[in-house]
Amino acid sequence: MSDDGELKTRIAELISRDGPMPVSLYMMICLHDPRAGYYATRAAFNRDFTTAPETSQVFGELLGVWTGIQWTHMGLPKKLNLIEMGPGRGTMMKDMLRMVRMFPRLSEALDVTLVEASPLLREEQKRTLEGHQIRHVESIDDAPPGPAIILGNEFLDCLPINQFVRASGAWRERQVGLNAKRELVFGLSPRVEPPPGLSSTGDEIEHAPALELLIDKLTRRFSTDPGRALFIDYGPAMGSPTDTLRAYSRGRQVHPLSDPGGSDLTADVDFARLAGLARAAKLHVDGPLAQGSLLTKLGAGIREKVLGDANPARAHDVSAAVATLVSPDQMGERFKAIAISAPSLGPAQGF
Ligand code: SAH
Repeated sequence: MSDDGELKTRIAELISRDGPMPVSLYMMICLHDPRAGYYATRAAFNRDFTTAPETSQVFGELLGVWTGIQWTHMGLPKKLNLIEMGPGRGTMMKDMLRMVRMFPRLSEALDVTLVEASPLLREEQKRTLEGHQIRHVESIDDAPPGPAIILGNEFLDCLPINQFVRASGAWRERQVGLNAKRELVFGLSPRVEPPPGLSSTGDEIEHAPALELLIDKLTRRFSTDPGRALFIDYGPAMGSPTDTLRAYSRGRQVHPLSDPGGSDLTADVDFARLAGLARAAKLHVDGPLAQGSLLTKLGAGIREKVLGDANPARAHDVSAAVATLVSPDQMGERFKAIAISAPSLGPAQGF
């Protein structure tokens, strides 16, 4: 439920005062407004959509295995920063930390940092990870230096996007404005130049400016310290997304302007652009690879069998949840994994 439209009223007031706003600003306010933003007020976001870690413990466990393999490949550094961006309820980190115990001495080497914007979700993460030493930071820049494994599941899709539309030969930006009844409506700006370097095969462009910032931050970090970042999210494997802004509430897709702050806003991830920016910065890129392929290579089938054998009454549920993660007709194909690494590390295992 939204805050009875209070955020909608505030957004309408902003638009009356300053004029129509870009889609990115609308997204930012809806997701992060301290009083009424979606993530700022909803610790139980999994009512509205179910993420991979909330689907099965196998997801986080296999990423724990992946982390162990990368640590080994990095030469078993005595201290390894494990950094998660947008950890939600903390479930994935909890499952990873259980699994890393398979690697002798890795648990002692780990220093866990969570990059989380929402104070409410920070509290939820502390509860989930009780007994573990964790620190919260605003930005990956504030994580301690040193070798790092960085992970983000369904983090990139909530980074704000701008949308550009070509109509009658001129580019215009999609904006959120008001109609005569003071309802929120989409409209188009006067003629603008879209930011340079964006690929536009058609008449629509979507651009997440935060991807540039993210690559800048990784480039800076990886210029002094070895590290790998793994992002898993939805988006096309080739080409850039267009017109993909969507809103979800209680498992259903709703209109993005209908309930600001009350529904999750998301857009497909531009993997092609992310990879292009990383390569231009001389970072190493693996993928994007289908989530199903990565999890299968990391041993999803074996883990499913071990869990099923340990608890036969639950074996069917475990198998169904793993199938949700890996099947091409469920999350297996639509979700992709991309690894971005310090050039010295070379290809990431599992790709
Ligand atoms: N990774 C979790 C949660 C995904 S929801 C899972 O898979 O279940 C997105 C998460 O990213 C939330 O925790 C949200 O609060 C956080 N988030 C979104 N934008 C952010 C930003 N700019 N900085 C830090 N955290 C952000």
